[in-house]
Amino acid sequence: MNPRQALVLKPGKEKPIHNRHHWIFSGAVRSIPEGAEDGSILPVESSTGELLGHAYINRKCSIIGRMINFDGRPPLEALAETIGRAVALRRDLFDAKTNAVRLVNGEGDGVPGLIVDRYADVLVLQVSTLGMERLKPFILDQLLERAAPRTVYERSNAAARREEGLAPAEGLLYGPAVEIVEVLEDGLLFQVDIVRSQKTGMYLDQREMRRLVRTLAAKRRVLNAFSYTGGFAVHALAGGAVSAVSVDSSEAAVSLAAKNVGLNGFPAAPADFVVADVFDFIRERPLDFDLVVLDPPAFAKKKGEVVAACRGYKDLNRVVLQKVPPGTLVLTFSCSFFVEEALFRQVLFQAAREADRRVRILERHRQAHDHPVNIYHPESEYLKGFLLHVD
Ligand code: SAH
Repeated sequence: MNPRQALVLKPGKEKPIHNRHHWIFSGAVRSIPEGAEDGSILPVESSTGELLGHAYINRKCSIIGRMINFDGRPPLEALAETIGRAVALRRDLFDAKTNAVRLVNGEGDGVPGLIVDRYADVLVLQVSTLGMERLKPFILDQLLERAAPRTVYERSNAAARREEGLAPAEGLLYGPAVEIVEVLEDGLLFQVDIVRSQKTGMYLDQREMRRLVRTLAAKRRVLNAFSYTGGFAVHALAGGAVSAVSVDSSEAAVSLAAKNVGLNGFPAAPADFVVADVFDFIRERPLDFDLVVLDPPAFAKKKGEVVAACRGYKDLNRVVLQKVPPGTLVLTFSCSFFVEEALFRQVLFQAAREADRRVRILERHRQAHDHPVNIYHPESEYLKGFLLHVD
């Protein structure tokens, strides 16, 4: 019998939950009360009746439950506290020179299915699960109270929503409508288009890497491949780069990149902004650069795409390693969750071998501080990068 109306796990399946992992896979579940609606919150019990915490459920998904808390406290009280901890961490990490920051990083901050990015006084929300969709009014209240934004905008368009039975949801949730927001990153100015952009507006996960590029760029000719809105180029110019060429296939992104370079008062030639496929660009052009940033989109979005993705990463890095002059630094990334760091390093090894260059690894990198990885939930780690020196 199940008098407490709980989600009950099969025998032995409580271990990951004891270890504070947020996901309950359907195969681990013995029973869910028939009347419980998808999207609602249930207590979670082991097969022996131990209360493990609370999860919201969705029977349509292979991840049938996502834990909100891991004790007997009321789940909304716990959730409010978790959001408070997420916001407080960013307050500790960032000063007034940076006001584009991820405030809530999903499971990485212990809030499954929710991403919140702050762009100055505008918050952009991304909700990816039915359970979080139901909690949206509560989340909005929490954010208004803790972050006092002028505007809250929703960009819930992740592919994962389809599996949850949710349509995309985009639009204004609170405050006056805004489209373009001006933000600061390490004292540099950027315009962010929160309505038509990729992701929620900026790739905040690369902030610390852009900072690194600023320290490396002096007197170097920089290639910013997969530039998006020019983040690495602006930081490189701030660090004294002699030139910074941004290449992206998105015309809107490249034109905003040009705008962002100008906004910071750096001189730039039209030839520094190229709308092109990076794979064509690196094959067709001589690569006379001393610092190259390769920040492609995730080539592997599913496990089944890993082999093809690795071929893509290898081709990209091989051509660059082959063509750059001796002494060039190459900062190269993969943001494919399924391509682990060791595999990516193996791909770079192959690329270096085929390019027949001497390559040394100077540093290894991961995603920015406001994209924390929950130690109990390693799935929140996806970005990896290497700083290479090519002789
Ligand atoms: N480095 C950027 C983020 C890059 S995101 C920053 O710091 O903000 C990846 C970018 O690659 C996107 O802007 C996307 O438009 C672009 N892109 C995807 N495939 C591409 C291709 N084949 N050639 C050029 N750009 C591509």
